[in-house]
Amino acid sequence: MVPQTRDTDLLILGAGGAGLFAALHAHKAAPELSITVAVKGLLGKCGCTRMVQGGYNVALAKDDSVERHFMDTIEGGKWLPDQELAWQLVTLAVERVRELENELGCFFDRNPDGTLHQKAFAGQSFDRTVHKGDLTGIEIMNRLAEQVWARRIHRLEEHRAVELVKSADGASISGVLFIDMRTGDYVFVRARAVLLATGGGPTMYRYHTPSGDKTCDGLAMALRAGLRLRDMEMVQFHPTGLLAGTHTRMTGTVLEEGLRGSGGYLLGGNKERFMPAYDPKAERATRDFVSRAMFSEIRKGNTTPHGGLYISMAHLGPERVRKEFKGMVERCADCGFDLAGGLVEVVPTAHYMMGGVEFAADCTTTLPGLFVAGEDSGGVHGANRLGGNGVANSTVFGAVAGDSMAAWVRKHGRFAPPAEFRLDQYERPFSAPRGDLEAIRERLHDTMWERVGIIRDATGLMQALRELDALDAEIDATGIGATSRAFNLSWHDWLSLRSLTAVSRAIAQAALARQDSRGAHYRDDFPQTSALETSAYTSIGADGAVTMKPVAFTRVRPGQTLLKHAA
Ligand SMILES: Cc1cc2nc3c(=O)[nH]c(=O)nc-3n(C[C@H](O)[C@H](O)[C@H](O)COP(=O)(O)OP(=O)(O)OC[C@H]3O[C@@H](n4cnc5c(N)ncnc54)[C@H](O)[C@@H]3O)c2cc1C
Repeated sequence: MVPQTRDTDLLILGAGGAGLFAALHAHKAAPELSITVAVKGLLGKCGCTRMVQGGYNVALAKDDSVERHFMDTIEGGKWLPDQELAWQLVTLAVERVRELENELGCFFDRNPDGTLHQKAFAGQSFDRTVHKGDLTGIEIMNRLAEQVWARRIHRLEEHRAVELVKSADGASISGVLFIDMRTGDYVFVRARAVLLATGGGPTMYRYHTPSGDKTCDGLAMALRAGLRLRDMEMVQFHPTGLLAGTHTRMTGTVLEEGLRGSGGYLLGGNKERFMPAYDPKAERATRDFVSRAMFSEIRKGNTTPHGGLYISMAHLGPERVRKEFKGMVERCADCGFDLAGGLVEVVPTAHYMMGGVEFAADCTTTLPGLFVAGEDSGGVHGANRLGGNGVANSTVFGAVAGDSMAAWVRKHGRFAPPAEFRLDQYERPFSAPRGDLEAIRERLHDTMWERVGIIRDATGLMQALRELDALDAEIDATGIGATSRAFNLSWHDWLSLRSLTAVSRAIAQAALARQDSRGAHYRDDFPQTSALETSAYTSIGADGAVTMKPVAFTRVRPGQTLLKHAA
């Protein structure tokens, strides 16, 4: 089987905030180059940027500053972020929000005096989250997609990237191998530069928030191509995922943080509050604390019929709840719950991966010609991501990637002959005996939730690694009992499971290597945070060996601040 081949100067994998910003910036910087956006779903309709509810962090207000946003990001990240990347995030977010409004046509909510309205988000010392009601992502994605459609930018929709193909001499990237999901044919797109922007996404956990098209393909491909991933143990859980049974994809979706912020209570299966016993801030403690307390209650067996906990808002007055949280009340009603006057079952849900491909401030990686941006990249957030810094990250670094790819291709870019394709690895499920992929997925979800989730220890992590090896072997031996390739979703499930187990192993190995607790990573056997002055981040490659690399405090050291008035 020989893939069809196409050429493009710049190839962008993924059409979220990172991918689309990269396409627009590259087109502006070098209009003579051909640009192709290849995406697993439909452009503008898939990925997590579209799901952004809360908003976009940016220091715009008179008394706010990029230094303050930077310090919040570094302290929130427990001193693990790469400080140059974090600085780039906070400074360029200001430019990107102006571009979103003034060039790309976004309308964000405004104050009566015409300035942008900025709301409070947890972990921030200033109200700096720009938003469009609680549907900010739809506004951003609709405007970005319109702008891409209006330009000479090619689209390969429903094309799933399966391999980053190096050049025959191994010195650079040659292009990307895809499956055209509509026909099931292989397609090789040769490119002078490639951007990896497939958006990570911790969908290997039993409860998760990201869109179903995110199955960590990008991170798995990066590992196979010899790139290193950092901070992989840092997986953020959101405390209040809806728990509505196994029959609905609504399970795991987020009930917004404002419910706890405005005074909502979390109750155990016994219908009593438990948070005050864990933290003086009770339900208003940070996401990691609340998720951990909830997980402990669940482990004690103090649970609801579906194995979770309750959120209760009725004491605030049902009318007020209906008025302030209309969308959430409707979402709960769709699943048979009365948020305003009754109890709703909730569970912590895997939300975001802080870890990803190691990269430089210009979005280059160690493989010449390959760039990375957005949730596939690691280092911007360290041990925790502030709500509102996710979409800032994808748009800021997407734009940087577009600019630097255009410049790079003009200077160095060449079409390189590809190394040999190994299609047999994707063909296995057509010849292996038919098996139950759903059962394998459920075991993966259980392993990751129980042993590599909110509370970890060495024994559980080692057990998880053994279980992941067994699951991998089973996936390899499991067939899909079909020969048709067009829109064969079982085939894609099989490919997704392979990516998810590879990245799950990286998470478990990094979690085993980090022998302290900080941010999103909590070890029951190492509950203390080690000295911040000697902070080191985990770095893992395809062989699974983890190296601890010291954080370079290039702008500020633990105990210091960039804020003048506090110095
Ligand atoms: C429910 C929810 C609410 C959120 N709310 C906020 C918020 O309020 N504020 C905030 O800052 N952040 C929020 N986030 C996080 C934010 O959405 C992400 O950080 C950010 O949007 C990621 O952008 P991205 O471009 O990297 O990835 P995405 O927008 O997820 O795009 C990834 C793209 O890659 C494509 N893709 C995946 N695999 C392949 C493949 N193999 N081949 C080709 N294409 C592929 C996908 O189809 C998609 O188009 C939220 C996330 C969720 C899930």
